[in-house]
Amino acid sequence: GDKQVPMSNLEKGKFVNYARIESNLQVVRQRLNRPLTLAEKIVYGHLDNPHEQDIERGVSYLKLRPDRVACQDATAQMAILQFMSAGLPQTAVPTSVHCDHLIQAQVGGPKDLARAIDINKEVYDFLATACAKYGIGFWKPGSGIIHQIILENYALPGLMMIGTDSHTPNAGGLGMVACGVGGADAVDVMAGIPWELKAPKVIGVYLDGKMSGWTTPKDVILKVAGILTVKGGTGAIIEYHGPGVESLSCTGMATICNMGAEIGATTSLFPYNKRMASYLQATGRSQQAAYAQEFNHNLQPDEGSEYDRRIEINLSELEPHINGPFTPDLATPISKFAEEVKKNNWPEELKVGLIGSCTNSSYEDMSRSAHIAKEAADHGLKTKSIFTITPGSEQVRATIARDGFVDTFENVGGVVLANACGPCIGQWDRQDVKKGEVNSIISSYNRNFTGRNDANPATHAFVASPDLVTAMTFAGSLSFNPLTDSLKGADGKEFKFSDPAGHELPAKGYDPGENTFQAPPEDGASVNVAVSPTSDRLQLLKPFKAWDGKDIIDAPVLIKAKGKCTTDHISAGGPWLKYRGHLENISQNCLIGAINADNGKANEVLNQETGEYGAVPTVGAYYRDRNIPWVVVGDENYGEGSSREHAALEPRFLGGRAVICRSFARIHETNLKKQGMLPLWFKNPADYEKISGSDKLSIVGLNDFKPGQDIKVEITHKDGSKDSFLTTSSINEGQWEWFKAGSALNKMAAAAAA
Ligand code: SF4
Repeated sequence: GDKQVPMSNLEKGKFVNYARIESNLQVVRQRLNRPLTLAEKIVYGHLDNPHEQDIERGVSYLKLRPDRVACQDATAQMAILQFMSAGLPQTAVPTSVHCDHLIQAQVGGPKDLARAIDINKEVYDFLATACAKYGIGFWKPGSGIIHQIILENYALPGLMMIGTDSHTPNAGGLGMVACGVGGADAVDVMAGIPWELKAPKVIGVYLDGKMSGWTTPKDVILKVAGILTVKGGTGAIIEYHGPGVESLSCTGMATICNMGAEIGATTSLFPYNKRMASYLQATGRSQQAAYAQEFNHNLQPDEGSEYDRRIEINLSELEPHINGPFTPDLATPISKFAEEVKKNNWPEELKVGLIGSCTNSSYEDMSRSAHIAKEAADHGLKTKSIFTITPGSEQVRATIARDGFVDTFENVGGVVLANACGPCIGQWDRQDVKKGEVNSIISSYNRNFTGRNDANPATHAFVASPDLVTAMTFAGSLSFNPLTDSLKGADGKEFKFSDPAGHELPAKGYDPGENTFQAPPEDGASVNVAVSPTSDRLQLLKPFKAWDGKDIIDAPVLIKAKGKCTTDHISAGGPWLKYRGHLENISQNCLIGAINADNGKANEVLNQETGEYGAVPTVGAYYRDRNIPWVVVGDENYGEGSSREHAALEPRFLGGRAVICRSFARIHETNLKKQGMLPLWFKNPADYEKISGSDKLSIVGLNDFKPGQDIKVEITHKDGSKDSFLTTSSINEGQWEWFKAGSALNKMAAAAAA
C-alpha cells in the first residue's frame, strides 16, 4: 500500500516514491550481498534498471531516475530553450526555476532588486512564461537563493535531485542526494531520459563529540576541505555519520553539504535524524517528516558498511577555522590565524565582512550573528569594516526582520542586501577600493577564488563562519581572535565577546514574507513563451539539420588546437555569460581561447577559402554560410572543465560536424554527441601530428558504420598530397540515432510527435 505523501506542498499530484527505493534495494541487496552505505542506498534506490545495471563504485556508469530538477536563472535559459525543442508538453519530473544570480548588489535590497528586474526583464519574462507553459515552478527575483528555497520547500530525505548549479548538494542537509550538473543533464531528466552518473565512491566522515562555543557547522567543512583539498572529493559522495551528527542543526548540516562542492564531491549527505524532522515540521512538512521516520531504515547506513576512505573529526576539539585566501582548502584554525596573516603578509586591515548567501543564511546563523552584533552595540560600537547581510530567502528575510535582527544589523552599520547571490557571484558594485588595490575581505560564503566577489585579483578573500565574520567586522582586523582578544567599547572599557548564542528555529515560526512563487497553471498549453525576435540575450533554438546520409567530404580543419583545451577555451565565461540564452551571440566566443597549433596564437585561424586569417567564429560561420562542413582537431582530454553545454552547441551552430582528438573529457564528449557532432578519437594518437590547419578531412564509410567500428578519415594536404588514418569512437546505437537525426533533441521531438 503506497502512501500518497506530496513531494512538496507546492505541487499537486506528485508523491514521494519511497516504494521504488525499497523495491530497487531488494534487487540490489541480493546482487551485491553486502552492507550498503547511505549514499549507496539512495543512489541505487534510484536506478533505472536495478536488475541489469553494473554496479561498481568508481567504475560503472549508473542510469538513474532523479525525483526532481532545479535550475537557477543563469543556467536555466539554455536548458529551457533546449527542452522546448524536445516538443514535450510538460517536464517529466517536478522542476523549479530560481531567479537569484542576476541581481547586482549596489545599495541594498529593495533598490537593487528593482534595478535588476528592469535590466533583466526579458530574461525573467521568458523564464516566467516558459515555466507556466511546461509545468515548472517559478521563483521570482527577490524570492531568494535556489539552495535555500530548495531546503525550505523541496528537499526531502532519501530523494534524489539534480540542479544546474554547483552548490545543489546543499539539500544533503535534509538527507537528499542532490548533485550539481550541466544544462544538458537537466534537459535529459526534464525530458524523461535517465541521468548518467559514474557510481560514486563514498568517503565516510565520522563525527564524534559535541559542538560548542564559537565552533559552528561551517568549521566542520572548513576542516574537511583542509584535509581533502579542492580535488579530494572528486567522484565521491561524502557521507557524514556518527554521534556528533546529533549536535548539528538541519541548516548547519546543509552548510556542510553545500561546501562539499569546494572539494569536488559529487554530493554530501547526512542520515535522517531528529534535527531534520524539526526543520521539516517548522517548514510545514510534518507529513513528510512522519513518512521519513517510517522509512528510516533506508535513511541510515547499514551496520558494517565500508567507505572508500574514512575521516574522523571530534567536534568537541574542533576549532573555528578561516580558509583562504584565493582557495577554500587553505585551512587555518583561528588560534593560528593572526600569526599566518603576519607570516604571509596578508593585508591585515579587514575592509568588508559579508554574511549570508546560500551557504550560511539560516535563522540560526542570523540569530547568532545578531547576538554578536547586539553585544557590540551594547558597548556602543559600530562595525569598522563594511558589513553586508544576504538573506538566503524571502522567508528568512521576513523572519529576521520580524524578530528584530535586521534592526540590530542596521543599527551597527550593516546593509541588508537583496535575497540573491549578489557579491557571492561577482554581482557587486564595490566602491570602497579601486581595481588592483590590495585588500582583505571575509565572508561566510563558500568560494573565494581570485576575483570571484569583486573582480579585483588583488582582493584577498577568506571564508569563515558568520560568527567569526561578524565579530571581525567590529575589530576591522584580520588579526582579531574573538575567542581570546578584547575590544575597546565606546566607554573606553575593554570587553570580550561572550560565546555566540542563537536559535536553531524561530520560536514564533517562520514568516513567509511576500509571496514570490508562481505556480504553473493546471494546463499551460495556451501560454505563449515570451522571446522577442530582437533580443540580444535570448533566441529560440532552431533544430539542427538532420544528417543527409552522405560522408563528410573535404571538410576544412577550422583549428588544430594545441595542448589544454577546456570548455573555458571553447566557450569563454565572464562577459559572455550575458548571452547564454542566445546561441548566435554567444557563439562569437567559440574556441577563441584555443591555441592554434600552426601559429601558437589564440583566435587566429586560416580561412582555407580566402587564404586569409580570421577569428575562429568568423571563419566557422564563413564556411557554414557556404555549406562547407568543418572539423576541429584536438589534443588530450579535450573539453575538460565545466560541463557547460554551450561548448558543444556553439561549434554545431557554426557548422562543425566532427571533433577529432587524442582523447576527450567524458562529459564534453557526450555533450557533442547530443548536439549531433561526431567525437572521434585518433586510433593512433601520433596521427595528430599528420594534420595541420590547412588540411581538408573526409570522414568516410559513415553509411555502413556500426557502433564499435573504426571510422576512416582521409587527409588532403594543401599541396594536394593525401594521407589517411583511423579513428575510434564511443558512439553507441542510441547515440548514432542522435547523429542521424541531427541532435538528441531532434530524435526526442520526432518520438514525441509520433
Ligand atoms: Fe552560488 Fe553563491 Fe548563489 Fe550560492 S549564493 S548559489 S554559491 S552564486
